[in-house]
Amino acid sequence: MEREEITTVLCCLRCQKETEHRVVYQGGLVKAIQCNECGLEVGFDPSKLRALYGEDLVRRVLTKPRRITEEYKRDLFSFVSSIPFRIATKPYRMFKEIESLKDD
Ligand SMILES: [Zn+2]
Repeated sequence: MEREEITTVLCCLRCQKETEHRVVYQGGLVKAIQCNECGLEVGFDPSKLRALYGEDLVRRVLTKPRRITEEYKRDLFSFVSSIPFRIATKPYRMFKEIESLKDD
């Protein structure tokens, strides 16, 4: 599946301040969000999120927008901070493996 990344400033749940985050999209949906400062990563399982929040919200918040707006970032942040941790996956090892394959 197509994989894309953007870097944007979001409020980190651990740092308790705004930091740069890497938002990873796979197949056009947010797959994981990682804080560039502390490394905290939250991964998502879209099927679990759909079951919990419904298709509309998942599509609105997790689909990569054409343009990253302040409103989108706010929505994304409030969504992320509302997700129960049992729903968030932590594909940290996978992330590291992908990282080690990149040569930049
Ligand atoms: Zn952080």
